[in-house]
Amino acid sequence: MTQRITVVGAGIVGLTTALALHDAGYEVRVVDPALPGSGTSAANGGQLSWAFVAPLAEPDVPTKLLGWLLHSDSPLRWVPSLDPALPAWGLAFLRACRRKHALATTRTLLTLAEQGRPLLADWRQRLALDIDWRANGKLIVYRDAKALDAARHHVAFQRSQGVEQEILGRDALYVREPALARHGSALAGAVWTPGEEVGDCAACCRGIAEYLKERDVPFEQRRIERLEAHAGRLVAWHFNDGERETRRRDEVLLVAAGLSSRALLASAGLHLPLYPLKGYSLTVDLTEDDPVFDASVTDALRKIVFARLGRRLRIAGMADLDGWQPRPRASRVALLKRQAADFLPAMAERIHASDAWTGLRPATPDGKPRLGPTAIEGLWLNAGHGALGWTLSMGSAQAIRHAFEGDDTALAPFRLDSRRN
Ligand SMILES: Cc1cc2nc3c(=O)[nH]c(=O)nc-3n(C[C@H](O)[C@H](O)[C@H](O)COP(=O)(O)OP(=O)(O)OC[C@H]3O[C@@H](n4cnc5c(N)ncnc54)[C@H](O)[C@@H]3O)c2cc1C
Repeated sequence: MTQRITVVGAGIVGLTTALALHDAGYEVRVVDPALPGSGTSAANGGQLSWAFVAPLAEPDVPTKLLGWLLHSDSPLRWVPSLDPALPAWGLAFLRACRRKHALATTRTLLTLAEQGRPLLADWRQRLALDIDWRANGKLIVYRDAKALDAARHHVAFQRSQGVEQEILGRDALYVREPALARHGSALAGAVWTPGEEVGDCAACCRGIAEYLKERDVPFEQRRIERLEAHAGRLVAWHFNDGERETRRRDEVLLVAAGLSSRALLASAGLHLPLYPLKGYSLTVDLTEDDPVFDASVTDALRKIVFARLGRRLRIAGMADLDGWQPRPRASRVALLKRQAADFLPAMAERIHASDAWTGLRPATPDGKPRLGPTAIEGLWLNAGHGALGWTLSMGSAQAIRHAFEGDDTALAPFRLDSRRN
């Protein structure tokens, strides 16, 4: 009998995993009460950021924390709360900011991202995915010459890891992206990474789900409320409608439920160190006359990304420690609109009129997702992709597939150690 794998979660992480396992010949089933790609994968920045995978936990972050707490217009914001989950996560985050640790994480994530890139290329062709994909390169633009100069260290490190990347001065920047030239002397230059890509993550979720459904992969629109484990084995799970389902012999339950993975694992006695990093996006329809860049553009100071997805412009930013509810804060939406309109004044009216979307990034303290089998037999995990779930989902799915097939070497840096945060 073929081994059955029940994937919990139909976001980009669950769906890429389900597809990779289906391709390998496993009997796959997907369980999610929501429509495919309607969680955090719904309206993200669209960046297939193969080369920009450095974790948020970087060496200079601890010194900036106070500023984030005090300034409401900071791109990263910490809204103080009495959430008992925050102190342990916060301490682990600060530990992960050590230089050696951060560089090791970047190296590990570069490998994971690169391993996934050919998989997306294959799926785009084979599944005829209609995802507004483009190999457009990425410009990180700096207003300040000192900040641009400081980016040289990072570029040198990236190049030592095989990433093609260069610093462009102002003139070279405007030759590469003439639509930015209106900023004149306000921009100092940019870091240019030609290998970066862009695509619509939610459309990719829908395309994969459609492909799997056509091949009779069952999608159950139910929520798994809690897991039941005894003596180190997963024995059953409970749905929101009250049904208890006993685990089949040899069946694996693979939790890819984004942020909610934390609560599901907790119901089986495992600690998964996830905390929500709230982000915002705007989507604006483009007209023929709009001065839109070909490359993806990131405003380094404000940490806002602008990416063209077909005839729409996706604008995304903010990383807020602001609790577990995906409710938008009016002040943050207003700030994102103001800053985006300031960058693209020709589109200001439509930017201000656009609807804002909010998503909770499922963030681990060190920026690495947690993948593979857990300490409980029959329970696997693929969660915690933080700000990079679209980019890292393919590599993670591939690593999981290989582990099922007997080669678990790629999982080594990502295993869940439930004793530590
Ligand atoms: C503003 C913003 C911009 C971003 N930009 C980028 C970017 O440019 N590039 C990039 O790579 N990443 C980006 N990200 C990150 C990326 O969007 C996430 O890492 C990714 O979407 C997480 O995918 P996921 O499948 O883990 O979670 P989700 O998409 O949230 O999917 C989880 C699914 O699990 C289901 N679920 C939850 N609990 C249960 C349960 N108990 N039972 C059954 N099902 C359950 C949910 O309904 C949901 O459908 C961005 C995020 C934000 C917020």
